Amino acid sequence: MNTLKIGENTFELAESIKKDLKASKNLEILKCIQCGMCTSVCPAARHTDYDPREIVKRALDNDKNLIKDDIIWDCFYCYTCHSVCPVNNSPCEVNQILKQKSIENGVGKPKVAPFSEYAESYLECGLGTIPSCFFDDLIKDYGKEWLELKDKLEDIREELGLGSMPLPEKDVNDINKILEKTGFTKRLERIRRCMNEKNTR
Ligand code: SF4
Ligand code: SF4
Repeated sequence: MNTLKIGENTFELAESIKKDLKASKNLEILKCIQCGMCTSVCPAARHTDYDPREIVKRALDNDKNLIKDDIIWDCFYCYTCHSVCPVNNSPCEVNQILKQKSIENGVGKPKVAPFSEYAESYLECGLGTIPSCFFDDLIKDYGKEWLELKDKLEDIREELGLGSMPLPEKDVNDINKILEKTGFTKRLERIRRCMNEKNTR
């Protein structure tokens, strides 16, 4: 249970979420009436212990442990909750901001680390490709056919007259120049360095 301290801003977390750069102008977290509509339609709530109403409640209760809680990573941004909330709150957006806070705090970094491979694929081939660390899960969900489909993708595309998937080298080079200018490449290098430091510790 949180202990209330005199002079403490009890809405500090909720207000920081509302003021966050990622928050919509009309994100009404402070108006949440705890009706539970969001939870009743949330697919993540149906299949896991995740509960969007509870997440919003904990944010309103100024529960700072929320950003360290693995449960926030069970939301996958389908926005269904967003579309039913009667007061214009969006647990989906609240959750995105909590995840961002978790990454900034360092706790959430391992959760996003596998996606650096996705980012690297933009540099290598100009396209976002599925990180190899997810292959086993995809095979488990879709069966071995998924791997066969992936391996034969070029043949299937040719048969359908869709042309080859890999981009010409010139286009990949142009994309690399854009990524360099936008700061993407530098940021990715920083992430790689952080990951290497962590692995050598
Ligand atoms: S976020 Fe909206 S839908 Fe969910 S409990 Fe609060 S008011 Fe209800
Ligand atoms: S966006 Fe997240 S919280 Fe909202 S319904 Fe989808 S999984 Fe649930």
